[in-house]
Amino acid sequence: MTHEVSPPRVRFAPSPTGFLHVGGARTALFNWLFARTNGGAFLLRVEDTDKARSTDESTAAIFEGLEWLGLDWDEEVVYQAKGLAQHQNDAERMLASGAAYRCFCTPAELAEQRKALTVGKESFKYDRRCDRLPEEERAQRLKSGIPFVIRFRVPDGTTEWDDLVHDRISFPNKDIEDFVILRSDATPIYNMAVVSDDISMRITLVMRGDDHISNTPKQILLYRALGAEPPRFAHVPMIHGTDGKKLSKRHGATAVADYQNEGILPSAMVNFLALLGWSPGGDREVMTLREMTELFSANGLQKKAAVFDPKKLEWMNGQHLSRIPAAELAPLVTPMLVQAEIASEAELAERHEWYLALVDLLKIRARTTHDMVRQARPYFAANISYDPDSTAKSWKDAEETVALLTGARERLTQLAEWRPNYMEEALRALADGMGIAAGKVFQPLRVALTGMSVSPGIFEVLEAMGRDLALTRLTQAIDHIRAR
Ligand code: GLU
Repeated sequence: MTHEVSPPRVRFAPSPTGFLHVGGARTALFNWLFARTNGGAFLLRVEDTDKARSTDESTAAIFEGLEWLGLDWDEEVVYQAKGLAQHQNDAERMLASGAAYRCFCTPAELAEQRKALTVGKESFKYDRRCDRLPEEERAQRLKSGIPFVIRFRVPDGTTEWDDLVHDRISFPNKDIEDFVILRSDATPIYNMAVVSDDISMRITLVMRGDDHISNTPKQILLYRALGAEPPRFAHVPMIHGTDGKKLSKRHGATAVADYQNEGILPSAMVNFLALLGWSPGGDREVMTLREMTELFSANGLQKKAAVFDPKKLEWMNGQHLSRIPAAELAPLVTPMLVQAEIASEAELAERHEWYLALVDLLKIRARTTHDMVRQARPYFAANISYDPDSTAKSWKDAEETVALLTGARERLTQLAEWRPNYMEEALRALADGMGIAAGKVFQPLRVALTGMSVSPGIFEVLEAMGRDLALTRLTQAIDHIRAR
């Protein structure tokens, strides 16, 4: 168990150069869960310093994605680019304290140095020559306006931390070059901006992808040089595709919004994302966001890469669909039915109770809300089309099928009440009379009513469809087969 002295402050720090992708959403979720389980704050920082690649649309898409997932943030959003003066000031402070120095080497000179030094296998490390410039020389260059960068002087020793996921991680400082913190145009390098912001935002735990592990020793050194206590760090595993390679577009949709469009419920998406690198222990898998806030602990974070399996996401969605109350699900499905021109909003409002019952019926067999919409059509449409595979399988013999459907129509027409137990009695009697198994009646009937071979139980279908529409469907099917 991790014990917090004061309420933790965590952040999600996306670069607004694209959509909210699953990796980012997962990192956001872990931070959010950490904050919510520990009574802390979850902050948002838009890392928009790369002017060429950052866009407002991307920022908006990230906000929308987080909102859709139900991940609300605290305090005002911090825009990194607005912190320029503070970043510069922090770099200047390190220059003044002697933790950093000016380097006048031009890119061409550095390339030369690199060439001269990398004869063997050893990688190039800046040799600090500008740190050794005589004072007059330095003053002279400054006066003549020669451009310079500010480099951090990496001290001797080892930089280490207790990672919440990976336990102790240490880096010998000799492997770290005197890295640039401020470019010659006075803009901060990534690590500089991040540390400066994390200090001013009073972040207590940095949780991010483990592709950032190599940045962490540099960042810790900057905290120390700035006289700030480094936060704790948790580096969560990368996400791979089912082929074991780092998740990318090759694996299919990677943007959260794509899954929204594919009929995935936000509750299923967050549940699925949570299990990419975290486990509540035991074999518990299906959870709501609220349940996760009760179960989340950094102890459950895993080191090994997580596998993004779209099939599992679909399965998870099916689980959430079957659990979500119709009253919650209906508002998500209604606009889809309207858009597909299956029903109008007014029509659904008018038959509200019936509609909720239908939603409950359809959600059981659906993997996505699109499945539900597809399955909903027969309960509304004046005419349906028949799935060729289903008719080939269940309507093999035209004459026999017509006889069967006609028999079913007759018996159903005579029912005193449109109730499942009466329907069952009538249809079983029909099967008996024809000397066939009941299943042999149900399947052709199912295709006649819905156009498909998969549907909820046949009596439930009949009931939800209502007497008039169901009988019309049978007549239509009989006419259709006769006309073939
Ligand atoms: N903008 C960085 C990223 O998207 C943030 C890294 C961090 O959390 O420090 O990878």
